[in-house]
Amino acid sequence: MLQELKPEINFCSCGCEARLVKENTSSGKRRKPKYFVACLDEVCGKRGKVSSFPWQAILEWNAGEESEFPDDFPVPFVNAFGLTNDETRQLLARKRNHCEEQIQKLKGANNNGASAQEKLKSLHLQLDWLRYGQTWLDCRTARL
Ligand SMILES: [Zn+2]
Repeated sequence: MLQELKPEINFCSCGCEARLVKENTSSGKRRKPKYFVACLDEVCGKRGKVSSFPWQAILEWNAGEESEFPDDFPVPFVNAFGLTNDETRQLLARKRNHCEEQIQKLKGANNNGASAQEKLKSLHLQLDWLRYGQTWLDCRTARL
């Protein structure tokens, strides 16, 4: 499941490719790496939001105005084929609610097992995808 949820990096709005950058913050106690997406063209220098996970950084970049939006509906696990924009919007909102409920449930159950952690990770990733889908839809309808 997690594998097929891995996002591709959208092109920069300047037309250049962008790549994922890992940043090791060695200052202070927290040594967790941070991630962001940056345009390969140094003159352009556009960057996405800094995030704690690589996939989060990619989806933040994809949802931002710095990157190009794909023409096709981007969320891999949502079938929006043949739906109107409004129907797609409702579908995304429903899925997002469902996702958030499941996350709350898992957290509330105080379940720290490996499979629960994996499921939580997958749910967070799905949630980020759904947010991206909503942004994508808003941008597309704004352009029409
Ligand atoms: Zn660029």
